[in-house]
Amino acid sequence: MASAHLDELPAEAELAAMLQPEVAGCYQCGKCSAGCPVGGVMDILPQQVVQLVRVGKTEELFRTETLWLCLGCGTCRSRCPNGIDIGRVIDLLRQCQPASVGRSTVKDIRRFHQLFVGEIWQRGRVYELGLLVRYKMLTAKVWEDLPLALRIMRRQKLRWLPSRVGTWRKIRGQIFRRR
Ligand code: SF4
Ligand code: SF4
Repeated sequence: MASAHLDELPAEAELAAMLQPEVAGCYQCGKCSAGCPVGGVMDILPQQVVQLVRVGKTEELFRTETLWLCLGCGTCRSRCPNGIDIGRVIDLLRQCQPASVGRSTVKDIRRFHQLFVGEIWQRGRVYELGLLVRYKMLTAKVWEDLPLALRIMRRQKLRWLPSRVGTWRKIRGQIFRRR
């Protein structure tokens, strides 16, 4: 399952049908939750994400902070006796979350994620300077990290202009396709 493109979101029933085979083998052993590095700050644990997917409660999942706190580190997958990739399931849920839903405490994470995925969709790589400027404008935190930004720019760690992966137009459809 690759991430769905932002303009091609599945309906809720379709989303549940896409996700349920991914978690079908879960027997709620809890090994994923025990190993998750951010489990302590999540409002629901990875195994609960799986359980809600299994019973088709995607709307409930859209309202959790866990959706935006997952690091996509893959620890849950490597610990799961059935190889269930919860990070990947969460990734698709993120892409499909309606704009009107979501906790205010994680809105900035969601904004950053959407800008990041948009960059990849456009060019196949991230234009960091453009991403930072747009993120700062959207979150109204323009001055917050200015000293750090100036230091990074003095060391020439940020490119002034964007560039695109040469073959990106050809391979983009495969990367962003739904499986
Ligand atoms: S480790 Fe795998 S089988 Fe166990 S609860 Fe997590 S997803 Fe389910
Ligand atoms: S991928 Fe997400 S849910 Fe899985 S262990 Fe990492 S942070 Fe936790």
